[in-house]
Amino acid sequence: MNAIYQRHVDLPHFMEGVKKRNPHQPEFVQAVQEVAEDIFEFIDDKEEYHEAQILRRIAEPDRVVSFRVCWEDDNGSIRVQRGWRVQNNNAIGPYKGGIRFHAGLNESVLKFLAFEQTFKNALTGLPMGGGKGGSNFNPKGKSVREIMRFCQSFMTELYRHIGADVDVPAGDIGVGAREIGFMFGQYKRITNEFTGVLTGKGLEYGGSMIRPEATGYGAVYFLENMLQHKGEGIEGKRAVISGSGNVATHAAEKIVQLGGKVLTLSDSGGFIHDPDGITQDKIDWIKAHKTRRRGRISDYADEFKGATFHEGETPWRVECDVALPCATQNELLGEDAKALIANGCIAVAEGANMPTDLDGVHAFKEAKIMFAPGKAANAGGVAVSGLEMSQNSERRAWKEDQLQSMLREIMDGIHERCLTYGDRRDGHVDYVKGANIAGFKKVADAMLAFGMV
Ligand code: GLU
Repeated sequence: MNAIYQRHVDLPHFMEGVKKRNPHQPEFVQAVQEVAEDIFEFIDDKEEYHEAQILRRIAEPDRVVSFRVCWEDDNGSIRVQRGWRVQNNNAIGPYKGGIRFHAGLNESVLKFLAFEQTFKNALTGLPMGGGKGGSNFNPKGKSVREIMRFCQSFMTELYRHIGADVDVPAGDIGVGAREIGFMFGQYKRITNEFTGVLTGKGLEYGGSMIRPEATGYGAVYFLENMLQHKGEGIEGKRAVISGSGNVATHAAEKIVQLGGKVLTLSDSGGFIHDPDGITQDKIDWIKAHKTRRRGRISDYADEFKGATFHEGETPWRVECDVALPCATQNELLGEDAKALIANGCIAVAEGANMPTDLDGVHAFKEAKIMFAPGKAANAGGVAVSGLEMSQNSERRAWKEDQLQSMLREIMDGIHERCLTYGDRRDGHVDYVKGANIAGFKKVADAMLAFGMV
């Protein structure tokens, strides 16, 4: 007897269903739509994906765990936060993805991040599924002891849901090596196990060389790959970058190393424009200012002559050749994309996750400029996390130059995979399409192998 199944109808109907099942979750719906736009075309003549309802299943997280996190602030007051872990898909490996601490965090944002992570991790070629977690805890203005107490309390619940072969969290916005240290310490204390349950650890206790640099460096390697595919390079290019955290500062560093000129960086207060270029010395100053002194980017304009601060604005109207949005989701809107195109920008590589909204993505696609979505361009971070997992399993630490060349190789591999599915006949590469299809295919084919689970 022939199985009776329903084909995925069409994109608008499919998206209607996603919206209905995920009310008030615009970021998640947006991320699904960006992928579904390309996948519908790809699976049109592939009945096995329809029969197994792969797209429908991939757009439903395996599970969403939500929990209460109590902690005591320095005044002795009890504070209550919400914590989450979204385990999206483990078809090709243990769930893997960062932890974000941000006041505005919610389930929609985490579901979109876990969904994106699934394709990103598949693109790296390493065996990692997709997950994401975090809390609406706001680290701004908190003392180190408050952050430690919060991390310990957060892990006291999270530990039961994770494990080196189950789910391996790492850092993200608001979570760096310090927070990972506090969480790893608490995990070890509760379980009495020393395993590679978190990545982004300190070098003394199982961390990997170049993990902090990997996302920003990787994004620039990807940008370089796109430019080289068109016979161009980074040298002499003017770059506009948003953000001033781990991803943005390391992207800036790599642009400078490769002979480009970085004109801007930003934070939630606005952006700084330095027409002389943000050199390595200035990047070092920003790193220290933002992390150790927990300062604002606006102070840069007082420190360095010729630079200006633009309060409440994003940097997308500054004339440039290449742009790297490295701050957060939906920071580059349709109008910004049009301004970049009008100003002659030829390539955009997303260092953040989904920084460009759907209008922006469509504008870049239409203008046929080189546009690398985050799931391809910023995969270097999680890729080195994957290498950290391998080193932990092996109980060895690889050398820096080995890891540097592995990161390079992985970014080259992602670029190749994007070309396979995104190379159009007229020579223009649709990297969004290439990344979506290559990531989807790997996860989908693994799911097919498992049957209906
Ligand atoms: N949070 C990073 C990302 O968005 C890294 C995740 C990881 O290393 O697991 O990919």
